[in-house]
Amino acid sequence: MDFSDFLGNPGVKSALSDAFSSGRFPHAILLQGEPGTGRRTLAGHIARALVCREKDRAPCGECPACRRALAGSHPDIRRIEGKGDGGNISVEQIQEMASDAQRMPDEADYSVYILVFGDRTSEASQNKLLKLIEEPPEGAVFLMVCRSAQALLSTIRSRAQAFQLMPPPEEEAAQWLQSHADVKPSEAQKLAALCGGNLGRMQEELGSGTAKEAMEAAVSIAKALPARGAHGLLAATAPLLKDRALCRQTLARLELLFRDAVVLRSGGKTLLGGSPEAADRLADLPIKQLVQLPGLAEKARQDLERNANTSLLITQFCAALRGAIGRS
Ligand SMILES: [Zn+2]
Repeated sequence: MDFSDFLGNPGVKSALSDAFSSGRFPHAILLQGEPGTGRRTLAGHIARALVCREKDRAPCGECPACRRALAGSHPDIRRIEGKGDGGNISVEQIQEMASDAQRMPDEADYSVYILVFGDRTSEASQNKLLKLIEEPPEGAVFLMVCRSAQALLSTIRSRAQAFQLMPPPEEEAAQWLQSHADVKPSEAQKLAALCGGNLGRMQEELGSGTAKEAMEAAVSIAKALPARGAHGLLAATAPLLKDRALCRQTLARLELLFRDAVVLRSGGKTLLGGSPEAADRLADLPIKQLVQLPGLAEKARQDLERNANTSLLITQFCAALRGAIGRS
């Protein structure tokens, strides 16, 4: 299996390649990782390799099978996406897939099913899926994509081969962005640092007009934080309540600003947050208090990813920040 255009994750890639060339490819694979780490990209890649006609260099990207797969029209690759807020794959969707899987593949040696799970999938659906992967129809391969395998039943986890995807090193991610988008090397590096090398997030940041807005919000929050009263901080966080994307980006920026403040306070100079002035102002706080701040921003961002209620999250975040610097 040729993964030359998929960054990072060397262990995952070699394990999959070995399984592929041994001719005993697992019938159930679980790709877990944060959004933006390439879970769907990799699933698509595996699916193409399984249907590709050039087995020695699959996926070749050029044979008719690869071309149809790339166009999303290969008859032996199906994609099943969860719906609604929790991204639930319904019992009906699983049932439909199960009956489809009983037929022989149309063209390829495999029928590939890519299942994209959200954070909440009902037990009924999972039990239905479990039956299917316990006794998989011949030639069927199930590629399951999720944030964390913990969201799935242990009985499903134990029957699938699980792989954890991580962002590539920041340097690689920055180079990748430069070759795929019109950005200066310095900007690519900044984005890679801001997003921890997460390519999906980097593209999102780049494509969204909220990047500048997020920076402004993060700076005003950082500046308002040391004040005695809570009013300024609440006003600075108000724009985040209505906009989840802005909220996530602002929290990411803020985490960097907080880290910068810690760096400055400890006599360092390498700053990543993009606003030395805001970091400098925070650096007046005692180091014992400062070191708690990056973790608080990180936790808030993780909670947001888990679909927490934004206004409750921001209220708690503000209280935690103020608590950390003795302003409660
Ligand atoms: Zn091919």
